[in-house]
Amino acid sequence: MKQNRRDFIRNTVITAGALSALPSSLSFPKTLNESVMKFRFYPYTLDLRHVFTVATNSRTTTPVVLTEIEYNGITGYGEASMPPYLGESHQTVTEFLSKVNLEQFKNPFEMETILAYVDSLALKNTAAKASVDIALHDLVGKLLNQPWYNIWGLDKNKAPYTSFTIGIDKPDVVRQKVKEAEEYKVLKVKLGRDTDKEMIETIRSITDKPLTADANQGWKDKQQAHDMLHYLHENGVVMLEQPMAKEDMEAHAWLKENTPLPIIADEACQRLSDIPKIAHAYSGINIKLMKSTGMREAYKMIVLARAMGLKVMLGCMTETSCAISAASHLSPLVDWADLDGALLISNDVFDGTTVVDGKVTLQDRPGIGVVKSKK
Ligand code: MG
Repeated sequence: MKQNRRDFIRNTVITAGALSALPSSLSFPKTLNESVMKFRFYPYTLDLRHVFTVATNSRTTTPVVLTEIEYNGITGYGEASMPPYLGESHQTVTEFLSKVNLEQFKNPFEMETILAYVDSLALKNTAAKASVDIALHDLVGKLLNQPWYNIWGLDKNKAPYTSFTIGIDKPDVVRQKVKEAEEYKVLKVKLGRDTDKEMIETIRSITDKPLTADANQGWKDKQQAHDMLHYLHENGVVMLEQPMAKEDMEAHAWLKENTPLPIIADEACQRLSDIPKIAHAYSGINIKLMKSTGMREAYKMIVLARAMGLKVMLGCMTETSCAISAASHLSPLVDWADLDGALLISNDVFDGTTVVDGKVTLQDRPGIGVVKSKK
């Protein structure tokens, strides 16, 4: 539509007036430019409520490192969790984090640059890198005064139900754990030893809830894995994580073609660059922040996995509510969530995302939505 000169002047004045009415927080405050990011970290040990047994090991504690990035008086919180099989420890994480110099960056919003720098400091150390990524996301969300599910444009009410993990144990202990997990709509069963059918039969003797299962690479023979997958399908299991050794791509590709359950890569899929290599052999991937180096790469992994037609599961380690809350902001995008890590420990130090009637329930707080708890 043609605009005459008077309309043009009036519209221009309105636009200029609207601009001057914008909140001053949208312009970059001078003090931000003068501030530096101060980075701190603290080793901590999580106590598990129960001895936790999977196909390859048992344990009662998990070492973690808690991180903080302080900028302009605002603190972002992060966490690295190091279950032993990841190859990281208090020592390796604190050594890595000692090398991280965030004071060289003037603008915390330049997350791509900052996290590429952190990633470049070592080849592995994915949990240590995640602890910086999570603290930076928390900080940036707080500077924007928005939770990450809003920044990503997600509906937090679409967060899924989380499964609750039942570790490998004797039938009476398994029965007890299943009863304690009454609130959860989905149970995740750890398999991969010679008691697999006994585990399933024990659980099925008390509940008909849908089950997911995780063999943690415990099955050695693909025909045995094939038979177990059919058995699990007949017993109400809806998907299976990592049946066999992560290196055995041919066996997983064969199982994908010849069995009825979705087969999810966990140990076989760590980071974004792994997805194209494993996509032909699995039906989906299990993303964990401690593998993916944090929230930013995890988001990219979800996008790529979807583009390649893969299912997506969001998992965790035993972690405080800090890392669990961070992951939960991605949960509206996934098919399955296994975010029970903070429920398995007795000495959490954060309040954040919780589980209400089995559903992942996010807080309306900026950043990743955590506050230090009084415990
Ligand atoms: Mg797994």
